[in-house]
Amino acid sequence: MLGVADVWQRAGSAACVRPLPLLAVRLPEFERIAWRSGRRVALALERQTSAAFEEAVDASLRAGDLIAHDPGSDAYAIVMAAPSREARAHSPVDCRAVLERIAARISQATNLRVETGWTILQACDGAAALRDGVRLALERGARERERYEFFAAIGHELRTPLSSIRGYLETLLDGGLEPRTSRRFLQTSLKEAQRMERMLEGMFEFSLLDLSAQTMVASRSDLRERVCAAFDAIRPAARERGIALLESVVAPAHVALDDDACMHVLLNLLDNAVKYGREGGTVCVSAAADARYVTLAVDDDGPGIAAHERESIFGLRVRGAGAAQRPGTGIGLAIVKLIAERAGGEVRVKDAPLGGARFEVALPRRAESEAVPA
Ligand code: ADP
Repeated sequence: MLGVADVWQRAGSAACVRPLPLLAVRLPEFERIAWRSGRRVALALERQTSAAFEEAVDASLRAGDLIAHDPGSDAYAIVMAAPSREARAHSPVDCRAVLERIAARISQATNLRVETGWTILQACDGAAALRDGVRLALERGARERERYEFFAAIGHELRTPLSSIRGYLETLLDGGLEPRTSRRFLQTSLKEAQRMERMLEGMFEFSLLDLSAQTMVASRSDLRERVCAAFDAIRPAARERGIALLESVVAPAHVALDDDACMHVLLNLLDNAVKYGREGGTVCVSAAADARYVTLAVDDDGPGIAAHERESIFGLRVRGAGAAQRPGTGIGLAIVKLIAERAGGEVRVKDAPLGGARFEVALPRRAESEAVPA
């Protein structure tokens, strides 16, 4: 199999004439295995993977397509340089089908997880650009997978409320129910419809954030202003549960998020603090800054979060054991984590001085005078 530099020599000129699909396959555990088990094991694994790759490629590709692998690397590349059978451009479906076959063959041979992705190789100028293309293809593949899993999960979740609404409506249409029972059925249907609405809102929020991830790093938001706006938004819900909102944000601080993303973080954390906090209790927001980070803390005096749940609750669609009595979708904290990490920060949970949960979000600081990168 040729190395990336050689393949570039051949694909480069063809890619100048027309854009070509670049497919990438990677064994994410290769490096860990090489590091832990030594060079001999790594070499054997690489040989096994290369053999499976070539076997799958022979069955899926056409003469004229190019494959590349640099010895010792965990990635394999395919440039679909041969025209397709029907002489039309390769579609995303073609690319995915080839990748699926190759990934299945490799993971069957190695028993390891395989990551895949594709992109379009535009007229590029050198082997480095091809390697860059492999990285882009794998990143795009990871985003595709994330989105697919997310939509599959949401689709699955939406089925339950939908079939419950359908069941109630069918029963109501059959007629013959007491007015009180009819009303109860309608109320339950309404509640289920509202739950679906919340899920859909969360779903769009999550997917939009993902798409706008690139722009988030080039932003600045005034944390103090956003806290005030978030308090205004959350006040009616807090009032309903008799919860007092306190703010002790230290100095005015700017963070590397745009205003919307900053609001998402605050509202999700405040919404949870009000929802899970003690009836008639207190929710407190504070912030501390060092030279590089501003750490925002949202405290409540509710039941807090058990030590064994402190990692898992940030997963998509994960709800804690104590959440059963409260409405929710398990999406909010996943959004907070996504925003914080995309901005170069992090989120964690611990015990609050008030006795409940403390959610801390560390965000890169932006000086007020600092120019925001374009
Ligand atoms: P949701 O609130 O919709 O269930 P989240 O992703 O916002 O989803 O939160 C995930 C889980 O974390 C919740 O189900 C709940 O168990 C737990 N949680 C979040 N915030 C708090 C809090 N302030 N106090 C106690 N538990 C919380």
